[in-house]
Amino acid sequence: MFNALVVEKDEESGKTQAGVKQIGLDDLPQAEVTVAVEYSTVNYKDGLCIGPGGGLVRKYPHVPGIDFAGTVETSSDPRYKAGDKVVLTGWRVGEAHWGGYSQKARVRADWLVPLPEGLDTRQAMAVGTAGFTAMLAVMALEDHGMKPGHGPVLVTGAAGGVGSVATAILAKLGHEVAGVTGRPETGDYLRSLGATTIVPREELSETVKRPLESETWAGCVDAVGGAMLARVLGQMKYGASVAAVGLAGGAGLPATVVPFLLRGVNLLGIDSVMQPYDNRVRAWQRIASDLPMDKLEAMIQPATLSDLPKLGAEILKGQVKGRVVVDVNA
Ligand code: NDP
Repeated sequence: MFNALVVEKDEESGKTQAGVKQIGLDDLPQAEVTVAVEYSTVNYKDGLCIGPGGGLVRKYPHVPGIDFAGTVETSSDPRYKAGDKVVLTGWRVGEAHWGGYSQKARVRADWLVPLPEGLDTRQAMAVGTAGFTAMLAVMALEDHGMKPGHGPVLVTGAAGGVGSVATAILAKLGHEVAGVTGRPETGDYLRSLGATTIVPREELSETVKRPLESETWAGCVDAVGGAMLARVLGQMKYGASVAAVGLAGGAGLPATVVPFLLRGVNLLGIDSVMQPYDNRVRAWQRIASDLPMDKLEAMIQPATLSDLPKLGAEILKGQVKGRVVVDVNA
């Protein structure tokens, strides 16, 4: 038997309740690879799956945790053997399939990525889905011509998980980084990650009045969406790109098409869940080489399985700073 965070639903009231419970190997879903999980983390989606479900969880009881890193225990797939270090993000693990808030997980071999040289399992979960997605966003911006020296790159939701990792990577790559935050008290933290300018959230949260403003940003990693994304589109330099990652500020897009037509601005969609294997491997390798590990250390807030119900509620309210690392064996 081993520990897992199990969410149960009372069918009558519809209310969910999460708590640490003992489960056994026979309780795990059928799949090729059993992993001894070492670390997991807390993402916005985890907040939903620990709590109200948000339409993501199909069946209860449920073990959430949309990402994890650990060591293969058994594998019926020739690509993995006992002792291999692996990382998993996406594929609806922790939503439709039991996830990483457990000392053991059983998943499909296709969903795993070998841990790259230079990263341990704790660092991999300090990065987690948020950091992996930040790297995908930076890669997409680079593929569309973003280069250091072209001008400042904007990161919205900068003190959150995606934003913190994006800030540290962009600064390491030699970009001038401006971070948008609604929490002024995180200014020193963002500067320590490499941001040179802090933009107060209210400066960008008003809806578009003029479709084009001064050409300011050479790129943008946007974790916020909504009115802020619409505003930012009108402030991009000619031919520059915005990587749309998140919707922390809303799923709408009250924008005009003018920045696309008159300034050749590109809006790039970033999905981490169904990302093809080769690009996953490329992103994890880039993380190992381009994310400064001392900066990553500064983002970490340690946690255990029993802290998760509280942390899940906090991330839904935008109150988590940086990256939570859950030691499932603590
Ligand atoms: P966090 O909660 O850690 O960060 C989100 C940040 O956005 C907050 O810290 C806050 O930053 C800012 N924010 C929150 N609410 C608002 C608001 N109402 N208006 C403006 N800014 C706000 O979440 P993550 O970094 O883990 O994820 C960010 C987004 O990216 C989420 O929407 C998530 O669902 C999405 N995501 C998408 C993925 C994909 O595959 N496309 C993968 C992973 C995440 P600050 O305090 O600095 O203002």
